[in-house]
Amino acid sequence: MRAETIHYSILPASPEAHLFEVICTVDAPDPAGQRFALPAWIPGSYMIREFARHIVRIEATSRGRRVALEKIDKHTWRAAPCAGPLTVTCEIYAWDLSVRAAHLDQTHGFFNGPSVFLRVLGQEDRPCTVDIRPPRGARYRRWRVATALARAGAREHGFGVYRAADYDDLIDHPVEMGTFTLAAFRACGVPHEIAITGVHDADLARLTRDLKRVCEWHIRFFGEPAPMDRYVFLLTVVGDGYGGLEHRASTALLASRADLPYRGMKATTEGYRRFLGLVSHEYFHTWNVKRIKPAAFAPYDLDRENYTRLLWAFEGFTSYYDDLALVRCGLIDAAQYRELVAKNVTTVLAGSGRRKQSVAESSFDAWIKYYRQDENAPNAVASYYVKGALVGLALDLTIRTRTQGRRSLDDVMRALWRRYGKRGRGVGERDVERVADAVTGLRLGAFFRDAVYGTKDLPLARLLAQAGLDLKPQTGPDAVSLGVRTAAAPDGVKLVNVHDGGAAQAAGLSAGDVMIAVDGLRVTHDSLQSLLARHRAGDVVQVHAFRRDELIARRVRLARAGPPQYELVDQARPKTDSRRLRRRWLGA
Ligand code: ZN
Repeated sequence: MRAETIHYSILPASPEAHLFEVICTVDAPDPAGQRFALPAWIPGSYMIREFARHIVRIEATSRGRRVALEKIDKHTWRAAPCAGPLTVTCEIYAWDLSVRAAHLDQTHGFFNGPSVFLRVLGQEDRPCTVDIRPPRGARYRRWRVATALARAGAREHGFGVYRAADYDDLIDHPVEMGTFTLAAFRACGVPHEIAITGVHDADLARLTRDLKRVCEWHIRFFGEPAPMDRYVFLLTVVGDGYGGLEHRASTALLASRADLPYRGMKATTEGYRRFLGLVSHEYFHTWNVKRIKPAAFAPYDLDRENYTRLLWAFEGFTSYYDDLALVRCGLIDAAQYRELVAKNVTTVLAGSGRRKQSVAESSFDAWIKYYRQDENAPNAVASYYVKGALVGLALDLTIRTRTQGRRSLDDVMRALWRRYGKRGRGVGERDVERVADAVTGLRLGAFFRDAVYGTKDLPLARLLAQAGLDLKPQTGPDAVSLGVRTAAAPDGVKLVNVHDGGAAQAAGLSAGDVMIAVDGLRVTHDSLQSLLARHRAGDVVQVHAFRRDELIARRVRLARAGPPQYELVDQARPKTDSRRLRRRWLGA
């Protein structure tokens, strides 16, 4: 048994130079020449990242002798044939403070397996051990380890040996090392912990109390017992940051420290709501995408793009349930939930990309479009996250209405869990629709054709009205617009996006231009709106701007304001049916 295990060790060899030393030992290398590869991407983040570009040095040895290592493509090496054991040692540069790769300095180390552990081709199914070693030197005496990897000799939170069932398991447990704050709680009996890296003043009692509530809601939603023995939140706090990546028994999170609750904080601030939404999102993924997963991901092909048209169900529905869980478990109130839905509607309706790309197409092209957005993205890309969440909302309300409240999207999710997730079966490209029809007894083909494969706007106003809610545009009738999204620049106002068909585009202004004056008066990000407010649609204003270092002047004919901000309000006298539907939907 032992002879078949792949052994890894990882050492923060040089924190000041951001270098990990990673060693991989294979007892029985391929007699034809063992090949090794580093993944091109990390599951959950659909972009080719080519982690091999961070390998600074790599060499192979066997029984004390150098073995020739030939590089055969951008991320694959082949060792000369040799008797085992064969050891490959790499030095890997780790300076990416995100949830996706690796980061190392004198304050902490963090890594995701795909960015550091070589895959031993042909031996991916073998069990692995990994010796996580502490950096050398007295200054690192207090460092400890947080990870959901199973221990195999290491003490709890200690350096030492951990194990994984196979390569897929090995790379699905990010590891944090350093002097993080640690807090623990149980959710439905399952031990959970949160390790917080970075300067913070978080109220741990409130944090663990609220996280427990979210986690228990999700576990009960899919049904006990939870599919994991323990769960770890690895949270890095920074001045300004936001992100998360899901794993089978943990998640790596990046958040702004101001978003965490502080001692004595009474209300749920907008920032904290955002943080709880992130936690809820990644935790829901423990089921939806880590276990209920597209057939295209079973198994992952780590060498190249893995195409699926289903991310609207895996990211979109997860985005629908992340906020919905918060209102259902009572962490936010119905008014706050209405605001979140209205904000999503505003975001989706603001971009004309929704008319050009369906959420199924957006899923398929995630690798080259959603994940690689440029200044034209609002004009070209539909978000399978935000629009996907609204597809979830529309589908849920459609099912609830058409079945007189007997069925909901909850039943569809639970059926997907029972039929696919629990059994380890991949979800085929049209299976979500099939399961939805089967579970509800409805024929939902037309819904999916328009909402998922089409570019028609969702009938949200009608559906929300059936839940006793009115979706209302907020912009006044005389508001005017340039048709741009802007950001403050040191010398003026930078055009971040220029919307198709808007006034700025018609006048020849482009994303990247920095506006410096309107009608001969200097303009700033703060003064732009008040300058525009003095005009009506049809008025022409003179705009001066810099494109690169060249001054340009353009006459801009102001247009009626573009897509409005929406708000969602309670109907004054909702029907009894609507009240009942809403009570069941929001659980309030
Ligand atoms: Zn997600």
